[in-house]
Amino acid sequence: MEIFSQYCTGCGYCYLVCKNEAITSDLNMILKISSELCTDCNMCQSYCPTGAIVSTGGKK
Ligand code: SF4
Ligand code: SF4
Repeated sequence: MEIFSQYCTGCGYCYLVCKNEAITSDLNMILKISSELCTDCNMCQSYCPTGAIVSTGGKK
């Protein structure tokens, strides 16, 4: 999973729905997904209102 920051409004929905705490933000509300913690459950993607989260093809 990857967040394209140019489409992200910083609404925080993805952060709230991620049960693995894989999504973190810095002080500027730039969100990142940790590939170590993310299980590709797709929850954040389905909640994102702007389509900023894109699947990178799942875990290898
Ligand atoms: S795909 Fe699932 S585990 Fe990965 S960041 Fe999104 S909500 Fe969290
Ligand atoms: S749900 Fe989408 S728009 Fe909202 S903070 Fe997450 S990536 Fe950004």
